[in-house]
Amino acid sequence: MSNTRIGHGYDVHAFAEGDGFVLGGVHISCARAVVAHSDGDVLIHALCDALLGALGRGDIGQLFADDDARNENRDSREFLREIKQLVDADNYRLGNADLTIIAQAPKMAAHIAAMKDNLAQDLDCPSASINVKATTTEGLGFIGREQGIAVAAVVLLEQA
Ligand code: MG
Repeated sequence: MSNTRIGHGYDVHAFAEGDGFVLGGVHISCARAVVAHSDGDVLIHALCDALLGALGRGDIGQLFADDDARNENRDSREFLREIKQLVDADNYRLGNADLTIIAQAPKMAAHIAAMKDNLAQDLDCPSASINVKATTTEGLGFIGREQGIAVAAVVLLEQA
């Protein structure tokens, strides 16, 4: 493979009424929950897909099926750490990751530093290698109606 590899990931989950959800390994308290088989960490799911895309290894659903009882309510950080082992096995390391949370609500700013720290810990990289930002859709569409949340992820891998 070449010296650098780019990968893209995108994930969406629906909101339901609840008492919070996990994003980037951080519990966010609010009046919503995320509908999912695993813990529904949409940020980590998008990041995992971006890493797998860069490696040419398919997608997260092929590794961790959403109809597999072992993955029920599973901590998505375990998925990320397993995929980090694939990055290592293929002799790559993370150059940088840029992650965009797309949600009308709740506000994300207070949680972003903790998300970055969690992801950097799982990927064994400096938190400066990971950028997490958030945007709304200005009230438009299913995200604007607060029916769900999406994350887009881009990563660059460098040969180790
Ligand atoms: Mg997902």
